Amino acid sequence: MNKLLEFSSSKKIELINISQEIEKTVYQSNSRQGTCLVFTPHTTAAILINEDEPGFKADIEKLIKTWIPEGDWQHNKVDGNATAHLASSLIGQTRIIPLINGDLQLGTWQQIFLVELDGPRTNRRVVIQIN
Ligand code: ZN
Repeated sequence: MNKLLEFSSSKKIELINISQEIEKTVYQSNSRQGTCLVFTPHTTAAILINEDEPGFKADIEKLIKTWIPEGDWQHNKVDGNATAHLASSLIGQTRIIPLINGDLQLGTWQQIFLVELDGPRTNRRVVIQIN
């Protein structure tokens, strides 16, 4: 079962909690066992799993900016968003979550985020595949 979801972002870097939409997709699939793959088909966005806490989200933004400072990156000659491509490459575009007895095996504090790295944008896509 596959599903395409779309989200909009409102900031340059933004963690968008997409857990509810994914849980709904899993519920609608009637799948009980397997894996839930979450993928974003963009070069300047990423998927991560962690806690939905304002301090953590601010820390991730700080980490990205520290990790990959604005600078003389080669890709900036193309369209000026090298740091977004680099952060996307390092965080990754895919996460896989085990599905057991109809429930995603996320920990108590684990939430699934679409990470906008070059916003604001509309039509940010996330592909869910349940196998
Ligand atoms: Zn680019």
